[in-house]
Amino acid sequence: MRVIEPHIHMIARTTQDYERMAMRHTIACCEPAFWAGYDRTSAAAFHDYFTHITTFEPNRAAQYLIDHYAWIGMNPKEAENIGLAREVVSFVPDFLDEPNVLGIGEIGLNKNTSNELEIFRKQVEIAIEHDKLMWLHTPHLDDKLKGTRLMLEVLADFPKLDREKVCFDHAEEHTLQMIRDAGYWAGMTIYPVTKNSPARVVDTLEQWGTDKMLVDASGDWGPSDPGTLHQAIFEMRRRGHDDDIVESVFYDNPCHFLGQVPKFKHKPRR
Ligand SMILES: [Zn+2]
Repeated sequence: MRVIEPHIHMIARTTQDYERMAMRHTIACCEPAFWAGYDRTSAAAFHDYFTHITTFEPNRAAQYLIDHYAWIGMNPKEAENIGLAREVVSFVPDFLDEPNVLGIGEIGLNKNTSNELEIFRKQVEIAIEHDKLMWLHTPHLDDKLKGTRLMLEVLADFPKLDREKVCFDHAEEHTLQMIRDAGYWAGMTIYPVTKNSPARVVDTLEQWGTDKMLVDASGDWGPSDPGTLHQAIFEMRRRGHDDDIVESVFYDNPCHFLGQVPKFKHKPRR
């Protein structure tokens, strides 16, 4: 069984994590640009970060036969610093043609503020203008339901938007309905301590089905573990789901979503 990790912050992980992922048949991973665990003080720091995830990480991953892809964007947490955020957004398009960049992400909302909304909207415009995929971050801290609704409202202002090209990540039981009703992809992120657990994610898949659903681990600088993705795979198999269905969630679905960009080289089984 092959596995694709659609959302992981490898910059915060050791090379041993790449090795562990490879041993568990992860063949590709995607790294959205996000907060680094501290607030950056200059646009140059973002430029360096975007350069890191488009050069250093693909090379590090390749040593373990993992294809590393990236998403470029101004994250909602630091978007609150509006002057800095506008400067960063101005050079986001410069990175979109890098060989491993799939689109704009992770963009969205953190505390549902007007500054965050301005920067989110600007980046949606860039994604549509350049015909790129979008990887969206829905809030953890304040109101996820309200934040998801606000993001849907922003996107609804763009009639030309192809909704197949957008994934709302960090979806949970109470936000799935509106994401799916509007025709978007939904991602569920597993955390080892807080928020969504492997079992809860499998419960949700059982309840909602697997169509246009993605599952990812929360590999970042906080309490997290890339192996939680494989715990969800094990949990699904333990409950008696056919391997064919399991692989459709953890391999084919990411291939279908990410493969809308010709740069993504893995093909779904069907
Ligand atoms: Zn993230």
